[in-house]
Amino acid sequence: MSKTKENETAAAAESQRAAKDAQERAALRDNMSRIAHKIIVLSGKGGVGKSTVAVNLAVSLAEKKLRTGLLDIDIHGPSVPKLLGIESGQVLGAKDGKMAPVEYSEYLKVVSIGFLLQGSDDAVIWRGPLKYGVIKQFLADVEWGDLDYLIVDSPPGTGDEPLSICQLMENPDGAVVVTTPQDVALIDVRKSVNFCGQLNMPVIGVIENMSGFTCPHCGKETDIFKNGGGKKMAEDMGVPFLGSIPIESSIVAGGDSGNPFHLDRQVDRTPAQEKFSHIVETIIQGAQQ
Ligand code: ADP
Repeated sequence: MSKTKENETAAAAESQRAAKDAQERAALRDNMSRIAHKIIVLSGKGGVGKSTVAVNLAVSLAEKKLRTGLLDIDIHGPSVPKLLGIESGQVLGAKDGKMAPVEYSEYLKVVSIGFLLQGSDDAVIWRGPLKYGVIKQFLADVEWGDLDYLIVDSPPGTGDEPLSICQLMENPDGAVVVTTPQDVALIDVRKSVNFCGQLNMPVIGVIENMSGFTCPHCGKETDIFKNGGGKKMAEDMGVPFLGSIPIESSIVAGGDSGNPFHLDRQVDRTPAQEKFSHIVETIIQGAQQ
């Protein structure tokens, strides 16, 4: 091929790429502009209850008839399908090449990377740019429609996924940061708060999960993972504290059976349910200001 021909082919490919990029950016902007509030749930460590908070926040908002989306970008450990009992959910094709989210209820649409994996034991081995691309697709190419809230369950830490979502979401309201009270969790969650600061993303507030345990048999209280560390960390770092949630066995049972604990009406309202309701109200009030 002559040099001129080569240059022409390269220029045509470049202009095609630029046109595709512009189209993707427009789709992203259009989708994001239809979502009133975008909240990212973060944690410093795994296992502190971040997905439990994200799922229960989403179902609580939906229960209040607020149009809600829940996006699970925990690419290496998506637990939203399990926590909602919708592991067999499928993201199907919709019009204009878009993806239709799984409708958990009239008011809650869900997308998880878990829906795209062949089997629940499949491991995802992806590098940063691929993760960025998938997260962008979840924001731009999913038919979210008009939403009052989009809740994003991000993997723990400050890696590719939280960075990508913070960069791609236009004007997020901010992050809800979940921690447990003991020092090993608090050391890492401070990094999450600083991460938000570096990205100019507001911290909506810190939730201290697994904060105290009341024995259902003798009523004695035990601070299994200590108590109050999350609140103190929030005060030290100058970010709001949203509240604490105690350890309750019904939360584990609800998670394992795909029934979010906050919707469990079989029991009298438990302290965790009461406290969680209060946290949800505080988040809604903050969003409306
Ligand atoms: P993460 O998303 O931070 O990895 P998960 O939300 O998956 O954490 O929660 C980890 C485990 O802890 C799950 O089995 C969940 O049911 C349980 N769990 C979360 N919060 C509580 C709590 N307050 N009391 C008892 N178990 C909890």
